[in-house]
Formats: sequence, C-alpha cells, structure tokens
Amino acid sequence: MTMSQLVYSGKSSLIQDFVLKTEPIFLRTDAHELTCYVCKKGLQDGTSLTAKTLDSKNVMLCEKHFE
Ligand SMILES: [Zn+2]
Repeated sequence: MTMSQLVYSGKSSLIQDFVLKTEPIFLRTDAHELTCYVCKKGLQDGTSLTAKTLDSKNVMLCEKHFE
C-alpha cells in the first residue's frame, strides 16, 4: 500500500496544476478545502499540506500534524 505524499509551496496556481495532472485523490475525499484536517490551516496561511490516508479517507495535514 502506497501513500501519496503531496507538498505544496503555497501558490494557488500549483494547486490547479496538481489537480489536473495527478490521480483524482480529491474526488474520493471530502477535503474539498485544502486545509489541515486538524487545525484547518491552509495554503492561504502559508502552510504546506500533505495528503494522508486516515481511516480509509484521504485527509490533508499540515507540517505540524503530519506524523
Ligand atoms: Zn495542522
């Protein structure tokens, strides 16, 4: 089982680029907002997010909460 690990640099243009070119990970999750699953900080806060499978769901976690 592999885990998709996606780190963003904070530019919104990169988000669109990612969504179009990679497997539809976001279509299988309710993480419609790119914010941390725990603290809700997102790209707009300058936070890098990483996708992680949690309880069979894909969630986004910031650098602090990705462990
Ligand atoms: Zn967090």
